[in-house]
Amino acid sequence: EPYIPQIIDVNYIEGSNDQKWNSRDFPWTRKLEANNKKVFGNHSFRPNQREVINATMSGYDVFVLMPTGGGKSLTYQLPALICPGITLVISPLVSLIQDQIMHLLQANIPAAYLSANMDWSEQQEILRELTSDYCKYKLLYVTPEKVAKSDVLLRHLNILNSRDLLARIVIDEAHCVSQWGHDFRPDYQGLGILKQKFPKTPVLALTATATASVKEDVVQALGLINCIIFRQSFNRPNLWYSVIPKTKKCVEDIDKFIKENHFDECGIIYCLSRMDCEKVAEKLQEYGHKAAFYHGNMDPAQRAFIQKQWSKDEINIICATVAFGMGINKPDVRFVIHHSLPKSIEGYHQECGRAGRDGQRSSCLLYYSYSDYIRVKHMISQGAAEQSSLITGHGRFNNSGRILETNTENLLRMVGYCENDVDCRRLVQLLHFGEKFDSTHCQKTCDNCCKTRSSVDKDVTNIAKQLVELVKLTGQQFSSSHILEVYRGSLSQFVKKHRHETLSLHGVGKHLAKGEASRIIHHLVVEEYLLEDVKKSDIYGSVSSVLKVNESKVKNLFSGRQAIIIRFPSTVKVGKLSKPEVTPAKGSLTTSGKLSPPRVDTPAQSQSIVDLN
Ligand code: ADP
Ligand code: MG
Ligand code: ZN
Repeated sequence: EPYIPQIIDVNYIEGSNDQKWNSRDFPWTRKLEANNKKVFGNHSFRPNQREVINATMSGYDVFVLMPTGGGKSLTYQLPALICPGITLVISPLVSLIQDQIMHLLQANIPAAYLSANMDWSEQQEILRELTSDYCKYKLLYVTPEKVAKSDVLLRHLNILNSRDLLARIVIDEAHCVSQWGHDFRPDYQGLGILKQKFPKTPVLALTATATASVKEDVVQALGLINCIIFRQSFNRPNLWYSVIPKTKKCVEDIDKFIKENHFDECGIIYCLSRMDCEKVAEKLQEYGHKAAFYHGNMDPAQRAFIQKQWSKDEINIICATVAFGMGINKPDVRFVIHHSLPKSIEGYHQECGRAGRDGQRSSCLLYYSYSDYIRVKHMISQGAAEQSSLITGHGRFNNSGRILETNTENLLRMVGYCENDVDCRRLVQLLHFGEKFDSTHCQKTCDNCCKTRSSVDKDVTNIAKQLVELVKLTGQQFSSSHILEVYRGSLSQFVKKHRHETLSLHGVGKHLAKGEASRIIHHLVVEEYLLEDVKKSDIYGSVSSVLKVNESKVKNLFSGRQAIIIRFPSTVKVGKLSKPEVTPAKGSLTTSGKLSPPRVDTPAQSQSIVDLN
């Protein structure tokens, strides 16, 4: 049986709070059920499928938030089959579209697609068929730029519409509309034109990932009217989450993990760069795994070949960039491993969501090191530069600054997630989607809930101030690890070379364990008291970073208006400054109202703590 997510609030927007959508008395109910069995081979409906179908077939605009693998496609394919006319589907990637069309044709449902890189004659033939008297197609898929740029398509849609044959407009992966999302695509912003031109045609927007602000954006940009929102819990009870400190032995650790827990089973390893994909795949092959790499630098045929081999279990492990995944339907993916830091919690949740679609227990491991944050941050700033030229190239709007800010913000939240070694992973992820979660329901299926221990909120304001002062004192030109060395009293050559051993704050933090001190400094970065100023440091592309002080934020710290409280596992003592106050470990927030961040990048740090109390 597939997993049954708990439905938290079915009809989200006021006025739609209504049980009528799961009624079996709609005029189309019998036809619906018969075709679900006969054509799609399904024995029943998954959560919310019937409700969504009934609402969209009743003519409403509908917004669907359903986890990856939840079965969103059926909610428009089944109506498309039983309604007269044609359903227009906008989907971001040609590869996704081809996959869908293949499945539809297998089920004998006539469907076609249009994309910019098709032969013009081929496109014309499809368009001609579209407006012929007995059009055979039930579904027409297009990429968003087709809508934005092709007047021909709009003209044909107009004709269909005037004959009452434009049955429905579907926006798949609707989060791509929003700049707040993790996968913004400028062409999606132009889709509002569809509602303007065809106000009576119901729109169905589908996504597996949307925070509250993304949802607002989508509804606005698409111009949805009185839209009914169906949304269900994003919790995936069969996925086990952990964050693991990343060391130089990372790939060995991965090898060991797979051999011990998922030997010969199928999984995805997400890597940051193309080179990483190739290196990790090669190493795993050496260790005896059937592994291959997959990234955007390979030609499409090669990629399709790898994906096929993986689907047929001829390869177990794919080492891939995030290019791999959208539309992947393999039910028995037993693990998703992040070899480096994901770019956002949304992206992370979605990538993990590719595991365990069959409802069986699956593992989600994230190898985290703070230095990966620097790498990803650099990539993001470069990506934004590229994207901005792309967008201004379109001549529609120039908001590269906005995009960069959003991406940087998303990345920092991800760092906060990794640094957090106290709160339930599910709780933190779901909170990000605006969903409340009682962490006792985690049932120890995440690393933090497994560490059965209490935690302590500690006031580290003074340590924070000292660290900020030290960054200033050294001229805002050193890395966080150097600042930590000086703070903890290192007498390394580098420290001496810069005469930092003579500074008044040298060694002031020597009572702190390395892990603790780094937790605090990373917290200051996550909360933007300190900023990492990332630069490419040599022609080989390695990246370095120096800490800067965010003056506007730090003001409050020194004026005494802002205290910094971090939740530590209660075995950790924070020097003399701590005011221990034991609180239950799980599920609650720190007194500052923020989720407590930091985790430690030295394993077993609690044993190395010196208690000066
Ligand atoms: P999503 O788009 O939400 O990620 P899909 O529509 O691709 O999910 O569906 C994921 C898988 O679930 C597909 O293999 C599909 O055939 C299957 N599926 C969808 N609905 C049902 C159902 N009611 N019963 C059984 N399997 C289903
Ligand atoms: Mg889908
Ligand atoms: Zn948990």
